[in-house]
Amino acid sequence: MQIVCLDLEGVLVPEIWIEFSQRTAIPELRRTTRDEPDYDKLMKFRLDILAQKGLGLPDIQAVIKDMGPMPGARKFLDDLRDAYQVVILSDTFYEFAKPLMEQLGMPTLFCHKLEANDRGMLVNYHLRMPDQKRAAVKAFKGLNYKVIAAGDSYNDTAMLGEAHAGILFRPPQNVIEEFPQFPVVRDYDGLRAEIDAARARII
Ligand SMILES: [Mg+2]
Repeated sequence: MQIVCLDLEGVLVPEIWIEFSQRTAIPELRRTTRDEPDYDKLMKFRLDILAQKGLGLPDIQAVIKDMGPMPGARKFLDDLRDAYQVVILSDTFYEFAKPLMEQLGMPTLFCHKLEANDRGMLVNYHLRMPDQKRAAVKAFKGLNYKVIAAGDSYNDTAMLGEAHAGILFRPPQNVIEEFPQFPVVRDYDGLRAEIDAARARII
């Protein structure tokens, strides 16, 4: 039996922080781990900016809801879930993902959690565990599933390597060059074809 693990941002929905920064015209929120390698510092900085701008969770969720999934994502996911068990593995937070997951038919999502105060202001974040994408794939293998995983970026390469088959979806050029062992696909038809081909190979 197979299980398909999909990354969320860059595969089914836009990059949430980047899109959010554009929609709210808060350029400081474009900062990523490339600019600030210390993830804890980066997250505290982001939460501080949101508090300074007076943006609480309901405001943030309204902006995220407006983003919507990427064109074609819902159809791709519905068709995929018709044929496979699918779990989405993401380094985002449940509170951010929720408005988008509703638009994707509420698939299963493993990610992290935010903490809001009684006024709805975000005061902290909680990573469920380190390296959770790879750990999830490893656990599914322990449950005797064959795992096919797809993602778009560096933070997916450990899960792609752990899976029986790993696929890169619209990755940046540096990831393609650094991880030539993974096939690269550019659209949902290509991704589905590669998933089906992987299933035939690993069965
Ligand atoms: Mg991604």
